[in-house]
Amino acid sequence: MTGQIQDDSKKKLIVSPIENGTVVDHLPPGTAVKIAQMLGLMGDSIVIIGQNLKSTKFGRKDLIKVEGKFLGEPEFNKIALLAPNATVNIVRDSAITEKRHVAVPDFVERVALCANTNCITNKENVPTRFITASRSPLIMVCNYCGYETKGEELKLKG
Ligand SMILES: [Zn+2]
Repeated sequence: MTGQIQDDSKKKLIVSPIENGTVVDHLPPGTAVKIAQMLGLMGDSIVIIGQNLKSTKFGRKDLIKVEGKFLGEPEFNKIALLAPNATVNIVRDSAITEKRHVAVPDFVERVALCANTNCITNKENVPTRFITASRSPLIMVCNYCGYETKGEELKLKG
């Protein structure tokens, strides 16, 4: 019997799988590059970005795969600010060993910018600090000036 190699690669993922690393899935379309930059992944890591992929849950989605890097809690919290429905899979030896949903933390420090242009954090070199007032819709209150920054006006530090 001659061994026939079944080519089922076409049925598999559009984006090639990773052996060890992190898959950030269910990102809103158009956010993958922004999130990868925010997490500082664009410099040294092998990063695969999928944009506008078909999603059974949300219509279209973006996705990030990072080879050789295991993201943790601080990164999950940052991802949640831009993609509250994101899931994170940790992959070891080509198998998913951990599956997580991201969540906006109670406090957000240093990551985001205050939408109040007169805020001291926008004028001086002061680390920003927000208290999460609401997760859905996302509203964060600046610890310095009390300004409520809504999710859609949220700007992240470059
Ligand atoms: Zn402020």
